[in-house]
Amino acid sequence: MVPGLCARPRARGLELELNDTLKRPLRDLRISVTDRCNFRCRYCMPKEVFGRDYVFLSKDLLLSFEEILRLARIFSGFGLKKIRLTGGEPLLRRDIETLVAMLAGIPGVELTLTTNGSLLAKKAVGLAQAGLHRISVSLDSLDDKVFMAMNDVDFPVSRVLEGIQAAVEVGLSPIKVNMVAKRGVNEDSILPMARFFHGSGHILRFIEYMDVGNTNGWRLDDVVPAAEIVRMIGAEMPIEPVEPNYRGEVANRWRYLDGGGEFGIVASVTQAFCADCTRARLSADGSLFTCLFATMGFDLRNLLRSGAADEEISQAIRSVWSHRADRYSEIRGSETADLHKVEMSFIGG
Ligand code: SAM
Ligand code: SF4
Ligand code: SF4
Repeated sequence: MVPGLCARPRARGLELELNDTLKRPLRDLRISVTDRCNFRCRYCMPKEVFGRDYVFLSKDLLLSFEEILRLARIFSGFGLKKIRLTGGEPLLRRDIETLVAMLAGIPGVELTLTTNGSLLAKKAVGLAQAGLHRISVSLDSLDDKVFMAMNDVDFPVSRVLEGIQAAVEVGLSPIKVNMVAKRGVNEDSILPMARFFHGSGHILRFIEYMDVGNTNGWRLDDVVPAAEIVRMIGAEMPIEPVEPNYRGEVANRWRYLDGGGEFGIVASVTQAFCADCTRARLSADGSLFTCLFATMGFDLRNLLRSGAADEEISQAIRSVWSHRADRYSEIRGSETADLHKVEMSFIGG
């Protein structure tokens, strides 16, 4: 048997489980469908860099829907459990509902999407009809002044809330709401957000601000650590930790003792979870990345467009994953500070 592989039976026949060098299986695939966005969140696509002169990918460089579907099917042969469509802003990709319908047909794979919510009120019905299973919506504050300063395009909170409501109405609940917490920028929004989503049926997830890419000017001092967020919320509303739903779940879960539901914290900086990281990422132009903080990807588009058979592509993925040794968050430090990392909007958050 090939190193890194072990056979296990599944409903659709024999499936090969693929492990990397740290015995982590390939369970999640995040697919970036565009590197473009209508927001300019300062922690992700600062205007000074992603402004008027920035050159985004041209259409011919983007994977087509057929190419994405073909890759997703090949990946699913390794025991994939979840596909997340992301970007840039995935709802900007024309006819995204068509891609959702194509991917929703892959058996045994949960299909989710992460969006800034700006187009969700318009698109929720189409996405649900196309078969999307779940959705995550990013919202960094309920305070317009703070939120507008963060998205840097004056986009108001109310329109994201309308998007969330539209998603609820078409049955995409429970919705995960992502909030990146940045020191001195929106830390005062942590409690108002917790209160607002307490008892709502939605799951608020705080994300520690990360040093993805090289353009956001990240400093460790800008991170609001998970432990501080837990203390803040716990001081007002009694909470207790909850076991993860499955190996590799990114957020630590917390439950309100009064039955008001739960919230999560993605503590990628202060409590690295690389040991359980089962995520691969496909950039909008078809490169495979095995870590959010990678400096290089493996070009699958070239294979697709040079007439490679499925088995050849599958072999390439197998080779990349079985050599994977990424654990950036565990080794983050002065030696990693100067790495030329890919940007979040390109690799897909
Ligand atoms: N545009 C969509 C959105 O904002 O939801 C999808 C792509 S975005 C890159 C995915 C997620 O990454 C969002 O929840 C965003 O807040 C988060 N994100 C972006 N840059 C980040 C950073 N530097 N640190 C932590 N989270 C970040
Ligand atoms: Fe756009 Fe999402 Fe990045 Fe904000 S976090 S700039 S919405 S891709
Ligand atoms: Fe996974 Fe890389 Fe993040 Fe570690 S740093 S959890 S390996 S994406």
